[in-house]
Amino acid sequence: MRSAASACMISNTPNLWLHWLSSVKVRVLPHPSSGARLSAARDDARPAAHNSSSSSSSGGGESQHRHQSGGNPHIQVTPKRLQLRDVFIAVKTTGRFHKTRLALLLETWISRTKAHTFIFTDTEDEDLRSQGYNMVVTGCHSDHSQQALSCKMSAEYDGFMASDKRWFCHVDDDNYVNPAALLSLLSAFPQEGDVYVGKPSLDKPITAQELLEGNQTREVRFWFATGGAGFCLSRRLAEKMIPWASGSRFEQTSSKIRLPDDCTVGFIVEKRLGISMVHCPLFHSHLENLLLVRQRSIPQQVTLSYGIFENKMNSIEVKGRFSREEDPSRFKTVHCLLYPLTSWCP
Ligand code: UDP
Ligand code: MN
Repeated sequence: MRSAASACMISNTPNLWLHWLSSVKVRVLPHPSSGARLSAARDDARPAAHNSSSSSSSGGGESQHRHQSGGNPHIQVTPKRLQLRDVFIAVKTTGRFHKTRLALLLETWISRTKAHTFIFTDTEDEDLRSQGYNMVVTGCHSDHSQQALSCKMSAEYDGFMASDKRWFCHVDDDNYVNPAALLSLLSAFPQEGDVYVGKPSLDKPITAQELLEGNQTREVRFWFATGGAGFCLSRRLAEKMIPWASGSRFEQTSSKIRLPDDCTVGFIVEKRLGISMVHCPLFHSHLENLLLVRQRSIPQQVTLSYGIFENKMNSIEVKGRFSREEDPSRFKTVHCLLYPLTSWCP
């Protein structure tokens, strides 16, 4: 099987397959009833085969052990394996989607990542709070405007910065996150590196007019990961973004280029910091034709989505016991494919 993460590449070197990504594999275990499936552990959703091993070639933070050798004590460094609890998953939503879009996510993937998932919304919800979800009620407007969306992204970034987590991942409330695939992908990067990974919705860099002093403008071109497919940032890179992203500065940067939140992240990373985005086909938004996602590749996909396009539902094609009427997004079907032991799975 080809490594899932080896499909990702750096934006300015499209022919360069990242050799350090090729070491990673999403392990697939045979399942008695329907062929190979991902088997995930309860809390960290990592395939069971990974749990027993104590070292990793791609892990990040390091633990140090005193080790006797030839009578001289020295330090042996063992990389610490990345776990789901090291990832801050921010979900952007709005009050009117709590009972619909968000409820579907809570029932499916968030049930596996509850402790590390943070719901950024604009409306208090006692129901959700009493169920113990991490909720952040921002003071942002509830509309779909550039300003409201940047306001929420800014809250997500600040929330991550105040946490002790090693990775920040943003998704929309119409995304399915596959926790095991996300963990495999992030584990493949140097944990202390500057990483911005996601998928562009355009086939070329976006062009923006950056506002300068004295009403001057200058043309800037950069790649950005579309927010509707989800994207991740490493902590080291997020820290470098502080001058343009923390507190009120994210919205200021967004209004300087007059573009939405996801473009603003791309602008800060590529134009302010000169760091290239890693393009990764394992993230999916409903701006692409989701029928092209192959059923057997689902265990490797990091995110999925669904949405209406030209009056028709654009969703992935996956066979299962739920009909299209019962499960139009196909998220329940995917969830039962990945976690067949879930109580409500047929
Ligand atoms: N959203 C929001 N307020 C709105 C509409 C949408 O905060 O009035 C959020 C929504 O919850 C989602 C994201 O913005 O996480 C993108 O919204 P949607 O999928 O409706 O639109 P898209 O941008 O994908 O076309
Ligand atoms: Mn959407």
